[in-house]
Amino acid sequence: MKVTKIRVAILEFLIAKKAPYTAQEIYQTLQENKALNSVDLASVYRNLDKFVKSGIASHCQLSDATLRFELTKTEHHHHIICTSCQQIDHLFTCPLTVSFSDKIVKNYKNLSHKLELYGICPSCQSK
Ligand SMILES: [Zn+2]
Ligand SMILES: [Zn+2]
Ligand SMILES: [Zn+2]
Repeated sequence: MKVTKIRVAILEFLIAKKAPYTAQEIYQTLQENKALNSVDLASVYRNLDKFVKSGIASHCQLSDATLRFELTKTEHHHHIICTSCQQIDHLFTCPLTVSFSDKIVKNYKNLSHKLELYGICPSCQSK
């Protein structure tokens, strides 16, 4: 992959923020950077797609159906979402590691699951 200013900027954003973000949010941040404010939303999407195809970034689809992007994580993880500021954090502990004894589940292969937690984050609590 060619190293371009926009790619470096998107990667730096995802590394610094850690949480999943939408292309729109990444685009808005790039707009604040004078060297990059000629970049359009479509090219942000294109570059994010390239990152996803090459495995650097992943789609993060939460139940609000908004497509977000995050750096690819090898660990199984979940998200906790602040209901006040919508900030998303990562959780690397999973309460669902116990195997299900349900007969129906036993008949399935490649099991996966989604879990989202909601709450009010520490910085919203102190407001
Ligand atoms: Zn919050
Ligand atoms: Zn995540
Ligand atoms: Zn889990």
